[in-house]
Amino acid sequence: MRTFFNNITILFLIGLTYSCYSQELNYSLDTKFGEFRYSVIDTNSVKDLLQACEKEIPKICMELKIDFDNSVIIEIYPSQESYNRSIINSDLKNSPAISGNGKIQLVSPLSPLAAERKIGIINYKDRLYFLVHEYVHILIDKLENPPPLCIDEGIACYFSSRDFYLDMASKNVRQINFIPSVEQMIINYKKIPAPDLFSFLFIDFIVQTQGKEKLAVLLRHPNNIKQYNGNWIDYIKNKYY
Ligand SMILES: [Zn+2]
Repeated sequence: MRTFFNNITILFLIGLTYSCYSQELNYSLDTKFGEFRYSVIDTNSVKDLLQACEKEIPKICMELKIDFDNSVIIEIYPSQESYNRSIINSDLKNSPAISGNGKIQLVSPLSPLAAERKIGIINYKDRLYFLVHEYVHILIDKLENPPPLCIDEGIACYFSSRDFYLDMASKNVRQINFIPSVEQMIINYKKIPAPDLFSFLFIDFIVQTQGKEKLAVLLRHPNNIKQYNGNWIDYIKNKYY
């Protein structure tokens, strides 16, 4: 079991102040993916979230060779403020979603996000996939030895937001003008620019050049990734420069 928490960073998030009021998650729904806990405003969106899980999670589990189970707790908060008040890691307030220790917390897909002040409105369907993103982290948490953060994050982004990150890459990679080496991504994940974007691109590079079946191997034998460094740098240069 890992001790840190995963969250969706969406490149660079901003801070916001939040007001104090209490609102509880009075509703619950048991599913094969876990127990959803939510407030009245999400009576319908919980069905859409479940549908996104039905569509994606069994497929992802097959590809990563990890089973899902119904022990996961999925809390859907009616607002960014109520999420911030109950968040499992207070350093990550104002993120849209977070996971750790078998629990996922997310802001209702119907409610505005702090992050949207900076990056613009995120559409409802993409918001549903924040749950898929965190669920991938929960699946990876089940492995006996956790992989480096760049592999964990890259795989979660790959399965939940491939189109979003490919678009981000086409707009930003060249401007960033820095390609982290595989070693930098492993050792200095938090210090490289746009770490989630480069983690995604690394996983996309592996899938494009080695095949999707390599992901399950990489997760279990992450030390093998350094051999790809030369090809990785060339791949990014050729594709985005
Ligand atoms: Zn993540």
